[in-house]
Amino acid sequence: MRAVGVDLGGTKLAAGVLDDDGTLADYTEVPLPGRDYNLLLDAIAEQVGRVRERRAIPPALGVAVAAWLSPDRETVAAAASLGWADRTLRRDLAARAGLDSVVVHNDANAAAWGEYVIAGRPADGAFVMLTLGTDVGGGVIAGGRLLTGAFGLAGEIGHLQLRPDGPQCVCGSRGCLAVYASGTAMLARARHAVAADPARCPELSGLCGADPARLRGQDLAAAAQGGEPTALAIVAEAGAAIAAASAQISRVVDHHTLVLGGGASAIGPALQQAVTAALTQSAPVGPVRPVPEVRLARAGNQAGVLGAADLASAAQ
Ligand SMILES: [Zn+2]
Repeated sequence: MRAVGVDLGGTKLAAGVLDDDGTLADYTEVPLPGRDYNLLLDAIAEQVGRVRERRAIPPALGVAVAAWLSPDRETVAAAASLGWADRTLRRDLAARAGLDSVVVHNDANAAAWGEYVIAGRPADGAFVMLTLGTDVGGGVIAGGRLLTGAFGLAGEIGHLQLRPDGPQCVCGSRGCLAVYASGTAMLARARHAVAADPARCPELSGLCGADPARLRGQDLAAAAQGGEPTALAIVAEAGAAIAAASAQISRVVDHHTLVLGGGASAIGPALQQAVTAALTQSAPVGPVRPVPEVRLARAGNQAGVLGAADLASAAQ
C-alpha cells in the first residue's frame, strides 16, 4: 500500500487505497454526515483507521477537498459547499488521524492528477482537465507537475471570462466558462426549453412528464445520447464555450490533451464531439492554433481519490 486517498465533496466522502501496483482498491463512498468541521475530521480519520486495521503499513494520506486552499495547502481558505473558512485542515487531519504524511489538494486539481495517472502520465505536452458539475473545476499538469500556483489558485479554468457582458457568475464576475458549461447551467437551459415549449423537445419533456422541475441531469444526458435536437443544441453551446476556453488555455500551456470529467461528462461522446467540432470549425487548424485531443474522463467518481492518494505517495 502506498497511500490512502480521500475526496471530500459537498455531499459525499469517498476513500480508497492506492496499492503498490498503482491501482486503487477498497473504494468506498458515503454521504457526508454533516458539514461540521470536527465531525468531518472524525469521519476522515475513521476512513483512514478502517484501512489501517486491515493493512499493516502506516499510510500517507492525500485529501481532495472542494475548496480554495492557501498557497502552501495547509489551510482551507474557503470551502463554500462546506461552509468552511480559514481551517487548518492539513495540520488538524495529521493530528486527528495520527499521521505525519498528509497532503491536501483542491478536488478538481486532484481529479486532474488522477486522470493523468490513469492515462499513463503522458510526457508529450501539458494535460488539462475540466470537471463539469455544479461549478466547473479544472486542473493543469505541465512538465509532469500539477500546477497549484503562487496563490493556490492555478487551474480555476471554470472562471476564465469568455464574455465580459455575459450572465452573472457565482464568483462575482460575468460570462465565465462555468455559466455556459457547468452541469447546472446545461440543466437550467434544458428546463427552460421544456417550460417554454414541451412540444419542441418531446424526448426531454417525456423524460420529466413535461414538468421542468423534475428534469434531471441524467435526462439531459439520455436525450443528447438519443440525438434529440434541443438537447444536442444545449450540449453544442456548452461545447463551444469549452472550446473557446481551451483555445485560450492553449496560448499559455499548449496542452496536448483536454479531459472532460464531472457529472455532466456522462453526456458522453455527444459532448466530446461538440467540443472537438467547435475547436476545429471556428478557425483553420495549424501550428499557431493547436487543437488538443479531447477525451472523456476514465476514472469517474474515483479520480479525486486516486489523484490525492498518488500525490500523497509522491510527497512521502
Ligand atoms: Zn466565475
